[in-house]
Formats: sequence, C-alpha cells, structure tokens
Amino acid sequence: MTQIKEVLEVLENIAPAEYQESYDNSGLLVGNKNIELKGVLVCLDTTEEIVDEAVEKDCNLIIAHHPLIFKGLKKIDPNHWVGRVVIKAIKSDIAIYAIHTNLDNVLKNGVNAKIAEKLGLTKTKVLMPSKSTLSFSIKSPILLKKEVLQATDKISPLNYSYSESTNGNDGKKIVEVIGEIAPHQKSQLSNSLKGLGVIASFNELTDRHPDLGAGLIGELEMPVPEKDFLSILKKQFKTAVIRHTELLGKSVLKVAICGGSGSFLLPFAIGAGADVFVTGDFKYHDFFEADRKILVADIGHFESEQYTIELIIDIIKDKFSTFALHYTQVDTNPVKYF
Ligand SMILES: [Zn+2]
Repeated sequence: MTQIKEVLEVLENIAPAEYQESYDNSGLLVGNKNIELKGVLVCLDTTEEIVDEAVEKDCNLIIAHHPLIFKGLKKIDPNHWVGRVVIKAIKSDIAIYAIHTNLDNVLKNGVNAKIAEKLGLTKTKVLMPSKSTLSFSIKSPILLKKEVLQATDKISPLNYSYSESTNGNDGKKIVEVIGEIAPHQKSQLSNSLKGLGVIASFNELTDRHPDLGAGLIGELEMPVPEKDFLSILKKQFKTAVIRHTELLGKSVLKVAICGGSGSFLLPFAIGAGADVFVTGDFKYHDFFEADRKILVADIGHFESEQYTIELIIDIIKDKFSTFALHYTQVDTNPVKYF
C-alpha cells in the first residue's frame, strides 16, 4: 500500500518545494496526503473535466504542472471555475498537487530538460542560473507603499512579493518588498527608488546549485537552416502555428528554451549567443526586443510544456508499480486555433 505522501516525496526529491519562485504556489493544494493512494492522474491544468476524469479512472491524486490555486483564494465560489474545481475535488475525495516553477528550475529531470530531449539537444546547461541573480529587500513606511510598489514594478524584477508588518522599535507599520533581479537590474532598482528616500539591500544568491535556474541552452547535433528548425519544432510540438521574429538567414546550432512564459529570459538567450529562443507567451512588444540578434519562436505556452506530463509520469514510474498512473486524455489548452 502506498500513501499519497510517498509519491509527493519522490517528486520533491527531484524538485524541492523551496526551489519554486516566490510568486508561485506549488505543493499540495487540496486534500490529505496521509491517505492510501488509489491512482494518479497527471495533467498540466486542473479543470472540472480533469476532476471528472480522475473520478472515472478511480484516481484520488491529481498531479498538475500549473497550480489551481495561484494568487490565493478568499472564497470557494461556485460561480468561478476554480471554486467549482475545488468543490468537486473535495466532494470526490481527490487531492490536487502542483509542481510548477520548482520543476522548471531544475536542470536534471526538469521541464526544460524534457523539451531539450525532444529536440535532441546536447551540452545542455541552465540559461539563467539562480546564483547569477540577486535577492533584494526594500523596507519602507506604509505611507509609501504605492510608490515603492510602482518603483519596483517599473523595472520588471524576475519576481517579487510584499508583506506588511509592524516595526518592533516604534510600532509603526511598514511594508517590505522582497524578490529577485538579474544583476543588471540592481542600479535600475536603486535609481527607481531615488527620490522616495528608500534604499534597497541586495544579496547575491551564491548558495544555489549551478544546475538550478530558469531556462536552458544546448546545441543541436549539427547546424540546420532556420526554416528546417521551425519545421522540426512544428512537428515535435504538434503545433498548428509558430509565431516568430524575422528569419536572419543563418543556420541554427545553439538553442535556448524556456517552457511556458519565457520573455523575461530573452536577454539571457541573446547574451549566451543562442541562435534561436524557443518559448511561449511572447507579447507583441517583446518581439521587438529580439532586435535581429536572435530568432524568437513562440510555439505556445501549452505546446511548450505538453511533455511535462510525460516527465512527471516517468519520474513516478521509475519508483512505483503498485498503483495506476494515467496521462490525461483531456486537452486543457484554453487557447484554440482556427
Ligand atoms: Zn506554464
């Protein structure tokens, strides 16, 4: 007999929960981990159809890449799809677990390693190692909360969050903003705070492992023309369309990738000398930033992460054979193409 927590422990051995980004909400989101496991259903997104499928397949654990509850949940509202999923899962005794940016951030057995495997990349390494980022902390009087958050937001940190507390010395309320930035954003943040009389403190995250961080860069076995590379992408990721920047008339050897929303890594992909950056969720204005220095190929958020299901299944299959393990048959991509 296997308990739910034993499976979660195996996943967290590969991608510990503390490796998730500060804005993330990976972990057990619904249910009890101290009960016997009947079966596991693996998916990217937990929708109502997914819970129905879990019931039908007699699974009492759903493992999803994206956290169902993300920014917090103040009420379980049946008029909102998240509330309906939570209600349905609880009524059906189904636990929901999410393994999101912690699985993105590990090189070995991570989301991007799986994409690299599908593209046949070798010499893979992390595109933006965590140790090359800086953590920052800004403490300011609560009166300046709006201005400080605006100043922080202006430089687009890699991630940030804030909390309010009472200063022990004088009992005054303060707001603290913490997060992570790339090294080149350090002076931007200091400048942005200038005029408010508020100072940020910075710490280098040197204690992190070099195989930990966002994105991946690797090489194809041999250079291929850009159009051939786009054809390979289309085939391997079963996508109807690829949104890309203009072709540069050179061949592709070095490939940078980031499953999901990767535009924040574009400067790192260019800096690492990648010929192409494969990701999802690029916005109109982000495409300009390629600036003829790199070919950006947006294959879609869902499409880029689709093999994460296979990745999670393989990790579990390697350790257990005592319960049923199912790939979802439901297409949870909310984006459709006409
Ligand atoms: Zn994603």
